[in-house]
Amino acid sequence: MKAVRGKEGDGEAVKRPGSAPGTDPPPDFIRAIVAADRAAGKHGGRVGTRFPPEPNGFLHIGHAKSIVLNFGVAAENGGTCNLRYDDTNPAKEEALYVESIAADVRWLGYRWEGPRKFASDYFDRLYEFAETLIRRGKAYVDSLSAEEVRQTRGTLETPGTESPYRNRAVEENLDLFRRMRAGEFPDGTHVLRARIDMASGNLNLRDPTLYRIRRLGHHRTGDDWCIYPMYDFAHALSDSIEGITHSLCTLEFEDHRPLYDWCVAESRAEFVPRQIEFARLNVSYTVLSKRRLLRLVSEGHVSGWDDPRMPTIAGLRRRGVPPAAIRAFCERVGVAKRDSTVDIALLEHAVREELNRTSPRRMGVLDPVRLVVENYPEEDDETLDAVNNPEDPAAGARRVPFCRELLIERADFMEDPPRKFYRLAPGREVRLRYAYLVTCTGFSKDESGRVDEIRVRLDPDSRGGDAPDGRRVRATLHWVSARHAVPATVRLYDRLFGVETPGRDGDFTDDLNPDSMRVNREARIEPSVRDLNPGDRIQLERLGYFVADSEDHLPESPVLNRTVSLRDTWARIAKRAR
Ligand code: ATP
Ligand code: MG
Repeated sequence: MKAVRGKEGDGEAVKRPGSAPGTDPPPDFIRAIVAADRAAGKHGGRVGTRFPPEPNGFLHIGHAKSIVLNFGVAAENGGTCNLRYDDTNPAKEEALYVESIAADVRWLGYRWEGPRKFASDYFDRLYEFAETLIRRGKAYVDSLSAEEVRQTRGTLETPGTESPYRNRAVEENLDLFRRMRAGEFPDGTHVLRARIDMASGNLNLRDPTLYRIRRLGHHRTGDDWCIYPMYDFAHALSDSIEGITHSLCTLEFEDHRPLYDWCVAESRAEFVPRQIEFARLNVSYTVLSKRRLLRLVSEGHVSGWDDPRMPTIAGLRRRGVPPAAIRAFCERVGVAKRDSTVDIALLEHAVREELNRTSPRRMGVLDPVRLVVENYPEEDDETLDAVNNPEDPAAGARRVPFCRELLIERADFMEDPPRKFYRLAPGREVRLRYAYLVTCTGFSKDESGRVDEIRVRLDPDSRGGDAPDGRRVRATLHWVSARHAVPATVRLYDRLFGVETPGRDGDFTDDLNPDSMRVNREARIEPSVRDLNPGDRIQLERLGYFVADSEDHLPESPVLNRTVSLRDTWARIAKRAR
């Protein structure tokens, strides 16, 4: 059934800019509702929310938006947020997903109230609610086939047709429903349906199915049940059982809200929660539906749910994205009542902002070429002080080794440079970061014509990198000592999809970016790379932010994933949009 979109401008979001420190942004429409409810003393001012994932896949950045909102609203109001698995469909759910979801929520920095909860914890009580509906004449056992139920539902233009079983007596319904539960009937022979209105303009209210027979083992209740509640019924009543005051969900549930309210009211549930819908997060250059993400995994387009190119929480973590960056991104995007697509550059921007503040700087060379310092003795070496993070004086300094033979980035030298190229070239002076000023005296090439060695002379009075006479040096290059540097594997990532809206013109897998990962085995990193533990993040100066891979990194053979490059495109995009 097609979801009805929120009216444009209806409850339009107030963006929470998240930048301007010291100014309190106005609350979004959900926070405004919660504040008004508290002011009115509703539920004694108590606020309870929940994050309700279905355990049929890994969480993605869209779920993060819901997590940040639900846990955020609870925390801001001194309330509680439950983690509740909506595990009503035994066909698609796996214990692996249950564990990954809990780990991801925890990693994002949130703690749920009490133990994890499951809709399946409430199967007995949900069953009781269903009997209440039957006793009150609000539900009946229908013996039409699934196909017949579909065919009699009608369309948006035409009303549905009432089932011949709609007017079964209460006693007969109770008896049949109990026998459904007892396993007397094969799958698909009967369903329990709400008795609402087959002519309703809202198709969700045309006697929706509440229970169906399904002989499948459940990950928690095993073979205890052969009937399972449908999502709308189970979700509304689970919220009620848990005393959820504000049930926040995405817009596609807007026209399910009358059914949500009906289930709570007609089942005579004590506690009445309120459902509020907000816009789903969409991000350019990626896909966020679990069905599509599952295809990427099962068809082998990526190495798994935690492939660093995936928009899953596990993928972002392995990519090196810090949880604070995801929280900042979600807050920045804000909560609106209108669907929109957020530019992935905004996520990358939030990642850079966080990593700039927190990542220690290191030096490494991805495409090395030899640099020989002619006036530095062969047998000598020394160590130089290098600042760990100019943004964070408390991060201190480290020592980096220097000697006669260094490696620099091949692209930092040109034999015959154009006017705007300020880096190394014959006769040109540059600064080696934290070390010396050096002037190029010559170079040589191999048989294929490729530069294989550059020669320089250093100014002995420039130790640390400052010109003794204050003369101007335009370029500062990163470098490593050839003798001391550690060979590393570096994975350079690009966007997983080559187009803004994957799947717009055909199958979304046709839009995969063939160059989304490049593996570099030539890289050489300064020796302190040996101190990294899996998951540690660094900036390689001028190259980007990197993380030691959580699976493959070893101190003696480092494996680094590039999280993002240093170039931020967000400011330009935001300016253009303005
Ligand atoms: P998908 O569409 O990826 O399959 P789903 O909605 O089926 O996701 P659930 O496990 O049911 O996934 O979602 C748990 C919660 O997260 C729900 O409240 C849902 O509304 C919310 N959620 C899911 N995707 C997004 C998104 N892109 N933006 C915001 N919230 C989302
Ligand atoms: Mg869902």
